[in-house]
Formats: sequence, structure tokens, C-alpha cells
Amino acid sequence: MNHLLSSQLANTTLTTPEAVYLSVVVPIYNEAESLSKLIEAIATTLRENQLKYEIICVDDGSQDGSTEILRQIAHSRTDFKAVILRRNYGQTPAMAAGFKQAQGKVIVTLDGDLQNDPEDIPQLLAKLEEGYDLVSGWRKDRQDAALTRLLPSKIANWMIGIVTGVKLHDYGCSLKAYRSELVDDMNLYGELHRFLPALAYIEGARIAELPVRHHARRYGTSKYGLGRTFRVLMDLFTVFFMKKFLTRPMHVFGLFGLSAIVLGTFLGLYLTFLKLGLGQSIGDRPLLILAVLLVFTGVQLFSFGLLAELLMRTYHESQKRPIYRIREVIVNNGSSTIKPSTINHQQ
Ligand code: UDP
Ligand code: MG
Repeated sequence: MNHLLSSQLANTTLTTPEAVYLSVVVPIYNEAESLSKLIEAIATTLRENQLKYEIICVDDGSQDGSTEILRQIAHSRTDFKAVILRRNYGQTPAMAAGFKQAQGKVIVTLDGDLQNDPEDIPQLLAKLEEGYDLVSGWRKDRQDAALTRLLPSKIANWMIGIVTGVKLHDYGCSLKAYRSELVDDMNLYGELHRFLPALAYIEGARIAELPVRHHARRYGTSKYGLGRTFRVLMDLFTVFFMKKFLTRPMHVFGLFGLSAIVLGTFLGLYLTFLKLGLGQSIGDRPLLILAVLLVFTGVQLFSFGLLAELLMRTYHESQKRPIYRIREVIVNNGSSTIKPSTINHQQ
């Protein structure tokens, strides 16, 4: 490495001069009115901060002309990429498609409706540079309907906090900054994009939260209503299971299964004693039903645990996903420290 390059690297720890430093990923579903303003606002802020960036808008099957606008913008700008999906898949797949295209060392996501403020991006980046892997925005003064949006969101945030163990005020804020290794390695399903901090935390990432501005929607309409709360809750169960038992499903299924079998067997033996030893009739005893049910569900849970163990091995081994994540390897090799990426890339 020549001297010039290494001194530049020292100033900007994440970037090399020619590489894209920052990829801004924006999912777009029927946001025609805000698009040009949004992209101009992002570009202005990033240019002012002298960042090497690209903006990636993912059109998630819009029907309001957003696609054509994105196409035109892509033809007229060099800092912009439009990814057009074939139909409407939802915000999570749209973001995943953007992540796949992103070349930056850092990825910032935000909404396409101008509710997030692009001027907050430099702040998030500065925080990331302090040594975090993910910095999440916190809409401290959120401008959405109180009853249908803020209340469910408050409850959801509280539950997500308890279940995942990541203490954030606002999981739903789209404005977030990630180191790219983090998202490269994450498989997103359902509405899991809001659980990215939780999933990242499971992978051992360092996470910070920063208050950001939030504006009321001025163009278009929100794509979500109360129904989202249910989907988020279901995803929460998935995340909970992944956090606790992903690499050891037998520990949970086996525990419940074996306990049920043991309890059921004892009850069965007791009833057998009553029948054979004391000659009592046991046909009308509710205990008999309980004993049978316990043994039955116990055997099922136990075998389910074994199947889950097999599935888990397939999950990890087919994708070559290690069950651990290395942050750093330090060797005493003169003065050098070898720092592999925090997270292994998928093959
Ligand atoms: N979005 C998307 N696909 C969808 C729904 C939403 O790409 O099926 C995008 C939408 O265009 C916006 C972001 O996801 O950029 C967040 O949606 P919205 O602003 O409606 O959510 P809210 O801010 O009301 O929670
Ligand atoms: Mg919005």
C-alpha cells in the first residue's frame, strides 16, 4: 500500500478513495410525488459531506407512475440506481433487493416518503464510526396518527425490547445505518426488516440509537394500518425462537417433551397400580386422559426436537453459516493486527 493511500485510509477508516463508501437504499411503493425531491435531498446532503455514495431506489411494484420516474432519474444521474421488482412484494423484500445491489461499506436505509430526513444521515455515519455496527434512528417526535400508529408501536416496541433483549426506543424507524457485512449475512423474511437490530444483536453486533427528525407524510398515503401489528407479533415469535434456540432446538423441544413423557408415565403407572393392584375401575378417570395426552404430546415434541435438530444442521451447513461470529483475530505479528470482517460472507 503506498503512503498516500494509507494516510487517506487513516482519515476515513472505512473507505478507499475509489470505492463507494455509502449506499442509500430506499424502498418505493407508490411514492411518485416525493421521488425527485427525496433523491435531490439525499444527494445534496451527501455531496455537502463529501461522501462517495450511491442511491438505490427499489421500486416495489408501484402502480402510480413511480417506476417511470425512477427510470428517468436513473438515465439522468450517475449516482443513482433503480431496481424495479416485478410486482409488489412488501417493504422487507424490497429492502433485501436493495441490499443485494449495494456496493458501499456502509448502508443507510430510509423511507421514500420524506418522513425521514436525509440531513440526519451524516449524524448516523458519525455514530457508526465510533465503532458501532448498526445505528438505528429514533423518531423521538414522531408525526403519525396517535391511536392507530403511535400506540400499537409503543406496545410493540416494549414487547420487542423484552423478547429480543435489544433496548431501543423505536424499532420501526426505517432510517438506519449498517456496516454492509451485517446485512450481507442476514436473510430477511416476513416483516423482519424491523427486527434487523435484533437479528444483528443475535449475531453479536454493536448497536446504537440516535434521535432523528420525523416529518408528517406530505405526499401519498401510508401503506400500513393496524393489521401490521399482528404480523409484527408473529415475526417476534420467530425472532425469539431464533435468538434462544436456533442452534439447539432439542433443548426446548426435548425439555418439554421429556417432562411430558415422564409425568404421563408416572400418572399411567399410578392408574395401572389402581387397576391391577387395587382392582379399581379407571375407565372414567379424567386422569387417564391426561396421562395419555401427556405421553402422546411428549413423544411428539421429542421427535419434533430431533427433526428440528436435523433442519438446523441443514440450515447452517447448506449455507456454510458458522454458528459463531468472529469480530476480530489478533496475532502478535510484528505490530500488525489482522481484522477480518466482523461477519463471514455467504458463499
Ligand atoms: N413500501 C414498500 N412496499 C410495500 C409497502 C411500503 O416498498 O409494500 C415502502 C414505502 O414506499 C415507504 C416505506 O416502505 O418508502 C415505508 O412505508 P410507509 O411510509 O407507508 O410506512 P409508515 O411510515 O406509514 O410506517
Ligand atoms: Mg412513512
